[in-house]
Amino acid sequence: MIMNEPNEKNENSGTNERRLTQADVQRIFQDAGLKMTNQRIAVYREIVENCANRLHPTAEQVYEGVRRNLPAISLNTVYRTLATLAEKGLVKRLDKFASSDLYDGMLLDHWHFICTRCGTIQDISVEESVFPGAPKVRGQIEELVVQFRGICDKCRSPALNS
Ligand SMILES: [Zn+2]
Ligand SMILES: [Zn+2]
Repeated sequence: MIMNEPNEKNENSGTNERRLTQADVQRIFQDAGLKMTNQRIAVYREIVENCANRLHPTAEQVYEGVRRNLPAISLNTVYRTLATLAEKGLVKRLDKFASSDLYDGMLLDHWHFICTRCGTIQDISVEESVFPGAPKVRGQIEELVVQFRGICDKCRSPALNS
């Protein structure tokens, strides 16, 4: 699998904090060889916005967000669009995390801490040097998935919630 890094200058993990202009989106889609449609753009922007807020939405949550601007879009279209964007490397699909797949706009290698009580996911930035070298396997490694599980601060001290 070849990951297209849509932003060539990914020098830090705050890639998505800046608001994407239409020109940015155009370049990202162009680099990925993906035709721009209103639906794809809306879904992509939704993921990027979620990412800026450190959220890893489900397809249903993306759908709810996109519907605010494109009321006619169907959940099925959102599923298909997410699959296309993931295939082209514009978003990451996190499977086997929660009961449903989650989507991540942060394309740099990073790990996740998931709260087993509330399901909140925190990004953990990883120094590239910490990534272990690829072990020898009979096959081709396509992805390294690291997941930390535990209880987040909010769940540990419910007083913080109020
Ligand atoms: Zn929690
Ligand atoms: Zn993430």
